[in-house]
Amino acid sequence: MIHDSKYLSEKSKHIAQKESKKLRSPIVVVMGHIDHGKTKILDWYRKTKLVEEESGGITQHIGAYEVLHQGKKITFIDTPGHEAFSKMRSRGAHVADIAVLVVAADEGVKPQTKEAIEIIKSNGMLFVVALNKIDKPEANAERVKQQLAELEILVESYGGKVPLVEISAKTGQNMDDLLEVLLLLADLEHLEFDAEKTEGVVIESHRDAKRGVTSTLLLRNGTLRQGDILAIGKLVEVAKILEDFRGVAIESAEASAPIRLTGLSGFPEVGDPFLRFATKKEAENYIKNMTVEVAEKSQTIKLSGGSDRPIFNIILKTDVAGSREVLEELLKKMENESIGISILKSEVGAINESDLKLALATKLVTVVGFKVKIDASARELAERANIHIVQGDIIYEVIDAIKRLAEVLIPPYVTRLDLGKAKILKVFKKEGQKQIVGGRVDEGMIKKGAKIELKRFKESIGKGSIMELRQEKQEVQEVRKGQEFGILAEMKMGIEEGDVIEIFEEEIKKRTL
Ligand code: GDP
Repeated sequence: MIHDSKYLSEKSKHIAQKESKKLRSPIVVVMGHIDHGKTKILDWYRKTKLVEEESGGITQHIGAYEVLHQGKKITFIDTPGHEAFSKMRSRGAHVADIAVLVVAADEGVKPQTKEAIEIIKSNGMLFVVALNKIDKPEANAERVKQQLAELEILVESYGGKVPLVEISAKTGQNMDDLLEVLLLLADLEHLEFDAEKTEGVVIESHRDAKRGVTSTLLLRNGTLRQGDILAIGKLVEVAKILEDFRGVAIESAEASAPIRLTGLSGFPEVGDPFLRFATKKEAENYIKNMTVEVAEKSQTIKLSGGSDRPIFNIILKTDVAGSREVLEELLKKMENESIGISILKSEVGAINESDLKLALATKLVTVVGFKVKIDASARELAERANIHIVQGDIIYEVIDAIKRLAEVLIPPYVTRLDLGKAKILKVFKKEGQKQIVGGRVDEGMIKKGAKIELKRFKESIGKGSIMELRQEKQEVQEVRKGQEFGILAEMKMGIEEGDVIEIFEEEIKKRTL
């Protein structure tokens, strides 16, 4: 805990905020190999379990729907294939709370099953195995459990913790049991939302001739009301026409609900996050900040891999045509995404004055002589102008020497060393970019002086650094997993309660050829 008298007033504010927390229903995604029954499962629930309303039925497929089981709601993401899901994943949006990993009991684990497992693991998602097609005579549940164990997925009957339900999406066998397990997992997870917030992700967008651009939003946190001002991806929108997943007009919705928003001014992309702001100006500023960050990111990528790579120029002189060809070949191979090689001139014969004159007129140039002499006048010019000359009789030695010279030109790159993750539990103070917040280390450790990346629903929203670290009032160097801390952080974006910070250090490295 953080104890500091000056934080007290903020503390009472925090308690007031806590009261706006409510439980929300789970958001579920169905994943697995093609033909293992994802669509059939989603169809079954859509046909048999929809939240009842007089209007009944779904008029349009909007990428998500809500079912009701034993008085509790579950939201299913209903995207065709998991294409859209991986797109969302690539945008860093963490949409679902729980995954259903579908494995056909007759076919067992397949490549896309493994891919789905990778996604689940890398996102740290809760999941349940749905062993589908159990009605088939070829179904072999034990074999699938064994295969899963080989992938380090231990189901309950194998002494593990992963729940498994044997189902048939064709006959409906145990389909309710699967819903019960999902509700149980959700209970254990104690999924909450903060009614005062409005945050979520775009899961589908399409253009309608009559109604313009319509997007399906999944509200991950808070409440969305008619008239709310939203930043959706790069768009600022006022939520005018809201509908639930059946196309019924609504005035507001609460967390975990899929919502259809019509009449947008642009086309939001799948995976775009949305957030509510008090004013359009604030929403615009937020988008501006985000865009700058994205631009900074793409800049680094370009520098290390794109067309901005430095070009290393070479003037090549060799004893015979054969060695000239070999060297040209090897020099071309040296090229990569961080450096280009350009052979300005390649000739048989001694290094002479005209080679040096060309070198003098060129930047970043090296004269290479293989088994050749250098004219006295050329040597003199080279020494005066400080031009690099590589001479040798052994091909690999010459190539190595060129590599060492070329490496100097390659810009260093920054690698990130992840130290840990922490959850923000309290926000105490914000003055400009300086913010005092408290949290708990969930993974690894937090370290004074380290950098932090701020994540909200797994979407990166800013970077900063840790100026001071405290534990129980004391200034400390590091705090480890499971413990609470307070930090003075420097960061443009406002840190909020419930955010996750990733703690990391950067190391500058040199590339070698
Ligand atoms: P997806 O590619 O994972 O979405 O798989 P589908 O839901 O399209 O199912 C592929 C095929 O398996 C279809 O012909 C389904 O009718 C069939 N199928 C799905 N679930 C079951 C099941 O539980 N039992 C049987 N016998 N067939 C199923």
